[in-house]
Amino acid sequence: MREAFRWFPDGLPPDMLALDETALLRALGRPTLVRVPGTGGSAPRAISTLLHGDESTGLQAALRVLRRGTRHPFDLFWLIGNVEAALAPPGFGHRYLDGQADMNRIWDLDGPDTAQCAAAHGMLAILREAAPESLVDVHNNTGDNPFYAIVTRDHPATVNLATLMTTTLLRWELKVGTLMEALHDTTATCAIECGLPGRAPSLAFAVDALRRYLGDPGLVTDRYVRDADVYGRLRKVTLREDTRVRFGGELTDDLDLVLPVDGDTHNFVPVQGGHVIGLVHPGTQLPVAVHDPSGAEVSDEHLDVVDGRLVLSRAAVPVMMTRTEAAARKDCLFYLSEPIDSLGSAGPMMRAARPRAS
Ligand SMILES: [Zn+2]
Repeated sequence: MREAFRWFPDGLPPDMLALDETALLRALGRPTLVRVPGTGGSAPRAISTLLHGDESTGLQAALRVLRRGTRHPFDLFWLIGNVEAALAPPGFGHRYLDGQADMNRIWDLDGPDTAQCAAAHGMLAILREAAPESLVDVHNNTGDNPFYAIVTRDHPATVNLATLMTTTLLRWELKVGTLMEALHDTTATCAIECGLPGRAPSLAFAVDALRRYLGDPGLVTDRYVRDADVYGRLRKVTLREDTRVRFGGELTDDLDLVLPVDGDTHNFVPVQGGHVIGLVHPGTQLPVAVHDPSGAEVSDEHLDVVDGRLVLSRAAVPVMMTRTEAAARKDCLFYLSEPIDSLGSAGPMMRAARPRAS
């Protein structure tokens, strides 16, 4: 039986590294883990790319950075996630394929017995054995956002890792089976969100971020070294299953909700109660639902319908508002967040790392 993933313990062969991204993905064919050997002396680091098949920026940035061939004092692990979804026509057009799971929701779970889960298990076992000091997971958004990072821990090593690259942070209790969470007890992990794919500024930010990460002499672990703007207490806003929605245009009888085409311009911008989310027919049930991290529905605390408008009933900072119905259906429409004045106390050092093989 063929392996569920490709494993290159000695780096990608130069002829593969020279391929353009689509040709490389065709040559790989499935999820891939690469170890770029270092000169020794420092703990391993890791990057992951393409966990979502429509998020091309991380792969492009990694290729641009790694083709320079710079030797680092640490082994670098490079994960290339949902290769199949990225390759499916039209190319970089699917977060994941029908019949697949979201590849950033299957880590460290007793998932179904699929090739995708087998790949995740196998790659995670190698990463845990290597015990990287840090991991940066590179993503894109489906709407316009400033460049930001997601952290799932308050530890200074984690926050200092994120603020190497951007000081706009989302503090997130995800608990949804991400790669970041699978490693965050022993490894400083963050995700960087590099804006919309296919844009030069997105790629420039990702390249810059990876170079800062790979060039950093080592994370400070006993204090925060930079100020940051932190947003948290996320509430997930989703379309109800039977909601008929469109971005832009008039509210007609065959629709339940019309969203503005530029709703994503409010991402990471504080808005007051009364902020308009979209147009609805008066007297109908809410076309979207709001859930807190425990999964409890809290729609009534956050939404109201006033004069045919769906509005926020209290101040919030919307983040990750998407621009497409497909993205809203596959994940969510957006999140509500709040500014967080200060992160939790540093607490003890991350759980004692597993003993490293000598
Ligand atoms: Zn993503």
